[in-house]
Amino acid sequence: MAGEPQDDCLFCKIVAGQIPATIVRETDTTVAFRDINPQAPTHVLVIPKAHYKDAAALAAGAPEVAADLLREAQAVADQEQLESHRIVFNTGGGAGQTVWHAHAHVLGGRGLHWPPG
Ligand code: ADP
Repeated sequence: MAGEPQDDCLFCKIVAGQIPATIVRETDTTVAFRDINPQAPTHVLVIPKAHYKDAAALAAGAPEVAADLLREAQAVADQEQLESHRIVFNTGGGAGQTVWHAHAHVLGGRGLHWPPG
């Protein structure tokens, strides 16, 4: 069923506390933790606790949680005191998505160029 935890999902395991992560914020519906391979001085992932394979599935299946995720991504940027930042959803393999549990990247702490390539 949509939103149910998946046994083979890395981020569901982080939500369940089965894999360690450096958690920076948590709400009833979301968790924010530091990316294991940071691409900027601040690189935090914000995920829904419920399993949706990507941002499109999350927006369609649980739009209220998608709103929570955006609010939390901005709260991370505020908490990290970022002057400028980028919030990214890589959706689909062609966009570089490798973990199939919806997540927002929050990046900051260095100059960020556009387009990213
Ligand atoms: P990409 O790997 O191309 O960035 P995604 O957009 O799917 O693709 O992002 C997955 C992110 O998850 C990566 O930035 C990766 O470093 C991060 N990641 C993978 N495993 C872990 C983990 N155990 N803890 C924290 N971050 C992780």
